[in-house]
Amino acid sequence: ATNFPCLRIHQHCIYLSRSLSTLVILEQQEGKLNNASLSAVTAAQKLGGSVTGFVAGSNIKSIAEEIAKVDGLEKVISVENVAYDRGLPENFAPLLAQNIKDGGYTHVFAPSSAFGKNVMPRVAALLDVQQISDITEVQSEDTFVRTIYAGNAVLTVQSSDPIKILTVRGTSFAAAPIGNGSAAIEDGVDPKAEALTQWVSEDLTKSDRPDLATAGRVVSGGRGLKSKEEFDRVMVPLADALGAAIGASRAAVDSGFADNSLQVGQTGKNVAPELYLCAGISGAIQHLAGMKDSKVIAAINKDPEAPIFQVADVGLVGDLFDKVPELTEKLKK
Ligand code: FAD
Repeated sequence: ATNFPCLRIHQHCIYLSRSLSTLVILEQQEGKLNNASLSAVTAAQKLGGSVTGFVAGSNIKSIAEEIAKVDGLEKVISVENVAYDRGLPENFAPLLAQNIKDGGYTHVFAPSSAFGKNVMPRVAALLDVQQISDITEVQSEDTFVRTIYAGNAVLTVQSSDPIKILTVRGTSFAAAPIGNGSAAIEDGVDPKAEALTQWVSEDLTKSDRPDLATAGRVVSGGRGLKSKEEFDRVMVPLADALGAAIGASRAAVDSGFADNSLQVGQTGKNVAPELYLCAGISGAIQHLAGMKDSKVIAAINKDPEAPIFQVADVGLVGDLFDKVPELTEKLKK
């Protein structure tokens, strides 16, 4: 029936008559925007209609000005208050709910980061709608795609909620460039909701390497590395030679070969680098869920039947303790 021209025109009219108005929540830490927020902007722009950015925290003026330059944003709403600096959901959720209600938005997009996953379900609850999590595609104003069962099935969700609350998988959308835009900056409403939670401190893993979630190249090691000493001896020089971030399978993390923060997969990080080079990883579905969108996947494994070879663009069957150092030497040259 959708091929019938009159019906198509009719649908088009309905689409235009409902003015779409989207708010994108941009996450900042210590005055720095994260890339996943810019991917959420790209996802929002797929809808059409007006797109407004939202940011909150202390000394917010300069970051609001940076956001105003993102191509395609009509407006930026900023709220200056130190209470929003650490993205505490108890503070942030009432702030967002108030601004969404006041602005009459039809859609709200946020990154599917720890911040987005923490705050947005509470916002959805306050607005009495359902959140749609971790979308990978925008099909229309009410239909979105996300993966389920560790990426093994693709679910198309249609929502009839009056306000669609969505979190966006950063690796599925390019980051919107900070260009020459000149969106107007306006002050948002600050409900100054009384929060019972206070940010005390955080203990972050510090590394000079590229950030795993956003690196262009990732080298990843699995249980095949046998020990932490061997993991460091074999994988670190390879990462250095490629200027890559280091990742690991859950088996490697659970065995203490690599830090928790390096786990790639369903219960770890989602990565989609230009190159994902893994050694001693079998390719369990839970691991694939976190890396199979990588542009080029290269795998080294001594078992020719290892499932990783089913998704690898380039495969090398052999002992990683010979092959990885050999490759590292060649790369250094
Ligand atoms: P193994 O499966 O043991 O594979 C080791 C591989 O190394 C083998 O293929 C072997 O042939 C190869 N090898 C051994 N020695 C050598 C050598 N000398 N040279 C070359 N190759 C060699 N896993 C994740 O990675 N990330 C997740 O987020 C994750 N989440 C999970 C969530 C749930 C709910 C569950 C149930 C599981 C999850 N897992 C996750 C675990 C997952 O199922 C696998 O157990 C895990 O990925 C296996 O890690 P591995 O490939 O390093 O180890």
